[in-house]
Amino acid sequence: MAKYKFFADMCIAICIDQNNMKEVMIIGEPKNVFEYIKGEPVNAKSIKAYERDIGSFLFDLSAGCRMLNYLKGSKISVSDGNITCSYLKNVIDKVLSANNINEEEFEWLCNNLEITQTSLINEDFICYQRHLSFSPSRVPNTDQALNRLLNKYIKEDIPMMIVKGRNDTEYAVTDISLVSMVEYYIRLLYSNNLFPRYCLNCGRLFIAKSSLFDVLCSDVCRKQRNSEKLRRYKEKHNDEYEAQYMKIYQKWYSRIRRAKENGQLSGDRLLICNDIFSGFTSASYEKRNDVRNGDISPEAFTRWIDNFEIQMNMFWADIK
Ligand SMILES: [Zn+2]
Repeated sequence: MAKYKFFADMCIAICIDQNNMKEVMIIGEPKNVFEYIKGEPVNAKSIKAYERDIGSFLFDLSAGCRMLNYLKGSKISVSDGNITCSYLKNVIDKVLSANNINEEEFEWLCNNLEITQTSLINEDFICYQRHLSFSPSRVPNTDQALNRLLNKYIKEDIPMMIVKGRNDTEYAVTDISLVSMVEYYIRLLYSNNLFPRYCLNCGRLFIAKSSLFDVLCSDVCRKQRNSEKLRRYKEKHNDEYEAQYMKIYQKWYSRIRRAKENGQLSGDRLLICNDIFSGFTSASYEKRNDVRNGDISPEAFTRWIDNFEIQMNMFWADIK
């Protein structure tokens, strides 16, 4: 580590706190950053430390800031909140103002900045992620996803470094080996069953806690979406059996979500629960159609709902 010559004498360190869904980013001269990570006293002005929502580094790189264009002289705009691209901009400014970069270094820098030219986590990647394959023990196939995402970019020979900080925290440190950093980041997310995704309500990127069901970024969005859904639903359906279904659906949807958040529901139990619940929702389309067409009686529909409730209540008794 000591031998590595940091480009422009700058580095970026990232610590992912998956328990609190936060990301810490430290930026500054390598010497100061390493000291800070180790918990040694450093001049507060010599480094910059940011704590943001988990995934922020990936979202910064998804903002489409074309740093390679900037290096080559184009004007670009980087928002203040985009810490990663602001850091890259500083590195480039430093390199250009020193005016002593050789051709080889310039090419190396270009290769590493290539990844900023398009939105990193784009719709295409999200779509691919939806069809991610899982091992029998439910671990996502990360290699496949990373190949898909990063294959077109050059991977640095000298990868980023892992540095242990206080309380066993782990920091990934690099100067501009962004591909390695992205790879590290996504592997860590996937191994904790966390997935980058666009919120179905507000459209912003966030890190979801499951590969399929978690589609809204915040409680605000969940609330908005639910009341909107309910409003539209009421507009369309005012039959009693529909209301009956919706009531039961919402009741269990919220219970499952709460139990998941509290950690009461995980592993095999979560899988079983998801199976029962998704079985219920997918069968509901046909059942409701059947009532509408008169193929089954509202009483039979009520019995079907009751059966689901019995099944869920039995399952739930084990959880508490
Ligand atoms: Zn949202």
